[in-house]
Amino acid sequence: MKIICIGRNYVDHAKELNNAVPTKPLVFMKPDTAVLRKGRPFYYPDFSNEIHYEAEVVLKICKNGRHIEEEFAQNYYNQITLGLDMTARDLQSQLKKKGHPWEIAKGFDASAVIGEFISMEDFDPKAINFQLHKNGEAVQNGNTKDLIFPFAHLLAYVSQYFKLHIGDLIFTGTPAGVGPITIGDQYEGFIGEQSLLKCEIR
Ligand code: ZN
Repeated sequence: MKIICIGRNYVDHAKELNNAVPTKPLVFMKPDTAVLRKGRPFYYPDFSNEIHYEAEVVLKICKNGRHIEEEFAQNYYNQITLGLDMTARDLQSQLKKKGHPWEIAKGFDASAVIGEFISMEDFDPKAINFQLHKNGEAVQNGNTKDLIFPFAHLLAYVSQYFKLHIGDLIFTGTPAGVGPITIGDQYEGFIGEQSLLKCEIR
């Protein structure tokens, strides 16, 4: 199983980190060892002093495919959830400055926090509301209508380079409002009104 992630896919988030708005999807990956699920706590790692949460809609691939056409992309995923793309922002900034790969800042153990999956059936992929609460207060509000590259485009783009397998996950990007986590924080993630993700920082 692989985890494909998309960076800077909402204009307001690209701007909050002073990044240019991309003209093509910005793709990176996390290994399968990054997965943290079933509401398990996230343990603050020693190698960073600035871990950020990034709430994102996550798609689960249900059909193998290469060179997927946009018009058929919806057949390739049937479940979604809310995820946190945990990012060691301090390490990432150092790596970015040197033009080095991001993996250790983005793909470390437990950096892909994943909620409970629900059927995609009742959702329009271009109108999914999602929200992240930190200690009971909303810190990120997103809607997939604001995606720079919608789901179908992402699947078409990514599958030119990587064959998609059943069970692969796609983190589709975060809206504005990312910020640092602190030990003791409680996060709760929603799609629409449904609470799908819970994560405590220890
Ligand atoms: Zn992200």
